Parts: sequence; C-alpha cells; structure tokens
Amino acid sequence: MGLSGKSVAFHTLGCKLNFAESSTISRDLQGAGMTLTELKSGADVVIINTCSVTNQADVECRSIVRKALRANPEAFIVVTGCYAQLRPSEIAAMDGVDLVVGAQEKLHLRQFLTDLTKQDEAIIHSCEIQDVENYQAAYSLGDRTRAFLKVQDGCDYKCTYCTIPMARGISRSAPLDQAVSQARALVQRGVQEVVLTGVNIGDYGKGEFGNKRHDHRFIDLLHGLDEVDGLDRIRISSIEPNLLSNEVIDFVSHSQRFVPHFHIPLQSGNNEILGKMKRRYQRELYQQRVEAILARTPDACIGVDVIVGFPGETEEHFLDSYQFLANLPIGYLHVFTYSERPGTEAIHLDGVVPPVERKARNHRLRLLSAQKQKNFALRHRGTIRRVLWEEANREGLMFGYTENYIRVQCPFDADRAGTVEHVMLGEWGSHDGLDVQPIQQQSPVAS
Ligand code: SF4
Repeated sequence: MGLSGKSVAFHTLGCKLNFAESSTISRDLQGAGMTLTELKSGADVVIINTCSVTNQADVECRSIVRKALRANPEAFIVVTGCYAQLRPSEIAAMDGVDLVVGAQEKLHLRQFLTDLTKQDEAIIHSCEIQDVENYQAAYSLGDRTRAFLKVQDGCDYKCTYCTIPMARGISRSAPLDQAVSQARALVQRGVQEVVLTGVNIGDYGKGEFGNKRHDHRFIDLLHGLDEVDGLDRIRISSIEPNLLSNEVIDFVSHSQRFVPHFHIPLQSGNNEILGKMKRRYQRELYQQRVEAILARTPDACIGVDVIVGFPGETEEHFLDSYQFLANLPIGYLHVFTYSERPGTEAIHLDGVVPPVERKARNHRLRLLSAQKQKNFALRHRGTIRRVLWEEANREGLMFGYTENYIRVQCPFDADRAGTVEHVMLGEWGSHDGLDVQPIQQQSPVAS
C-alpha cells in the first residue's frame, strides 16, 4: 500500500533530540508523498514520539492515543521513542495502538507502514537496547530560524535516577564531516541558529565509527562547525560539568558563532546527594566551571538542571543545595521533581521524600529561578545585543532570545520576524522578558 496521498500527524514529547528525530521521520514520510497535518484534523497515520524521563510518560501516551482516535477512529497509531523502547509490550497492550517501534528502527519506520489497517493486536518492531549500536543522524526544521542538530546519542554514564541509557543505548556520535555538512545544509535552508543536541554531547567523538574509540573530541566538533560560512549562531544545548573543559570554555569565549550560553546539569547542590546520584563530580567542580566561564565571558548565561526530592534528600540537604544555587551567579534553573523509574538504582534507595514535600521544594526552586532570570536580564538593561526573532505572532507580540539567552519581546512586525537584529535592551516586560527597541547599527554592540 503506497503512502502517497495519505496524511500523517506527529505528537512529540520530551527533549530536543526527540524533536530532531520526529522532524527527520516527518521529512522522510513527506518524501514518500504523505502530507503533514494536525492531530486534531484526523490524520490517517499518527506518530507519537515518547519520552521516559518522568513516570507520566504512559499517562501522556494514553491520552494522546485517545485524542488521535477521537479525531479519526480509523487512524493508524504508531508509538516510538524512549518509552516505546523501554516498555514495548505495555504500549502494545494499549487500546488503539497498531505499531510500536524501538530505538533502532524509529528513523526507518516508513518500512513498517505497509498496511495501515487497524490491528487487533499491535505489532512490535524493537530489539534489546544492547543491540542498538549504530548512530542515526537527525535534525529539526521546525520554524526556519532555528534548528536542533543531533550530533550524539546514548550515554555510558550510570546516574542512579536515569533511564536514558536503557532507552537510547551506548554513547555514539555523528561522523564529524557529516555533522558539519548537515550544518551547511541548514544554512542553505535559511537557518540562522543551530542548537547542538544529543544525550551527553560532551562525550562527542565516542563511537563515531561504530567502535568504542574516541576518534574526535567535542572540541574538534566545535572547530569544524566554527568554519561553516553563513552560520550565524551555534548554541550548545547542554553539557555535563565534568566534560566542560577550559579548552571548550576558551573556544566559545573567542568564537564569533558559538553563543555565550552554557546549560550545565548540576542535579543537586549537596555533595552527599550527588554521591547517591552517582554523578561524576562534587559541587566544587561545578562552581569552578561557573567561575571559569564568567572569568572569560562575564555576560555569559549559565542555566542549571536540578532535581528535587531525590531519595534521602532531607530538609537540610535541600537547604544546603538551595543556598549553593542562591550563591551561584547563574541565569536560570530547570527544576525537575524526582520520579521513580523502573530499572533504576535509585528506586531501591531509602529515605523516600513524600510527594507533597517534593512539590514544595520544586516550587521554592522555581521562585529562585524566576528571580535569577529577572536579575540576569536586568543586569543587561541599556546594552545593545543581537536577537533572533521567532516567526510566531503571539497576541500581537513577537519573542526572541539574545545570544546570551535573554528572552525579549516587542510588538509583532512581520518584516522583522525570523530575522536577527540589533536591539537596545529595555525594562522587564509583561511576558517574563525584556522590552526592546530596534536600533540602527551605528552604536557599539555589547561584545
Ligand atoms: S549523564 Fe546521567 S542523567 Fe545524563 S543521560 Fe547519562 S545517565 Fe542520564
């Protein structure tokens, strides 16, 4: 059965990597003659790309399946992504699901769309994660301005709360020349900002040619991408603190393309909890990385991932972590509430924190994050920066980010949407960002 003329809708959960992979599958299916449509418009095929980081994955997956079938009871439902790799039979048992596709097969799922009739029993195409060794390229092309470029996949670390290594497999990387040529292709399509995406991208180079060797290092990738003509901005989506070398920090501080924004997972500001998480550093190393960045690039934005409510986290541990974060010169926090994940070491640890307490700690850190974000933005008031405007018109406003990740807003202007321009940073506005004024490029720009 040909796919030509059939419609397909996507619902993607989770991280930038999942969006890059959904976008790549979508391009492949459109290349086979399918038309992309919205879930609510009743598609012939619905692809749900799942996440496994929280224990909400199954709840979310079920509700999307129901929503898709409400829009088209005959829709052929495909579930893929991390949750599908971790628990294929559980998903196959869900009413309405026709096909479950694992990590190895997901970017080639077109080959399984040969018969789109609803199945009495869902078909599973998946293999053991130990057998997933090859690297599959992907990049997103959501709106034209910004693209997520996958450069690495999988992880060899063993953090005790994390399911990602079980869902995505061993650490492996895009061949360097492939990553560079994909960045060039994105520039030719008008993309102005590329966000480097992966699971543990600081480990880039491992498994580049299907082996466990490190043929290149992360810094080699940065050098390669820094040569891509016409690529205006490159953002590193996230990097482990123990893999953030002075070499990388130096390189970014001198590069015209790599933006001064570092998102660095910390997970806890208390060393005892870091030990229980089996993170590969203590907080002193983290602080030292922050200081090393700001010594070279004083206006760099540093974002922090932190988990609250990890087993054994007492009020004292939490306050110690809170104080450590409060004292750090950072720009914002991404706060996650610990959730028990089957197959992880952490679920066997003592000292379970009551959900109501986890929620309260999450709230306290989000308040701290809002304060940090506002203080960081206001510190740059009156300076001139380059902003990449998003294309969307949101209730007459348009939004964008400066290189150092300050969210800005101004009245929507179709001629300026999707462009990079110099702006004067103004006061704190109505939507968690600074109001800005466009300026003619005579005045000096903040370096
Ligand atoms: S570094 Fe740790 S938290 Fe991150 S993906 Fe690997 S195991 Fe998970």
